[in-house]
Amino acid sequence: MTLRPILIHPDPRLKKVADPVTAVTEEVRTLASDMLETMYHAPGIGLAAPQVGVMTRLLVMDCVKDETQAARPMVLLNPEVTWASEALNTYEEGCLSIPEQYADVERPAEVEVRWMDLEGETQSERFDGLWATCVQHEIDHLDGKLFIDYLKPLRRQMITRKMQKLKRERARA
Ligand SMILES: [Zn+2]
Repeated sequence: MTLRPILIHPDPRLKKVADPVTAVTEEVRTLASDMLETMYHAPGIGLAAPQVGVMTRLLVMDCVKDETQAARPMVLLNPEVTWASEALNTYEEGCLSIPEQYADVERPAEVEVRWMDLEGETQSERFDGLWATCVQHEIDHLDGKLFIDYLKPLRRQMITRKMQKLKRERARA
């Protein structure tokens, strides 16, 4: 397994719609395990392939926060929201591509998601709580959407400017 560098906003690859996975190849399996390692190392609870520069509809997540509970690494290929609750939930979201910036985002509190697993089987599950927020945030990445796109333009521009500065600093370091 290899850690992959995570793209930092703004980057054109984070604004693009990713392509569906057509077959579970060795490349897809390697990407999934690299992404899980990269996510746990960051540390983060979710990561989408475009964030490591791969324009494929694949995401990984593990929202188990309690250290006494077993980890639940999940790999979702071509995930789709098939149902969303009318009830909404607000979470303070962050993103590995937008380090150290957090903002409240309102989303459906529960969603049902269908996806293909690494065996090529179709899976479906209803998510709530942090899992629901996380899976919607990550699916957004596959459609070129970031959590800051839900914020007011002024706030979004402020965060984008901070990220531009961060990237300049990192490039110099
Ligand atoms: Zn993100």
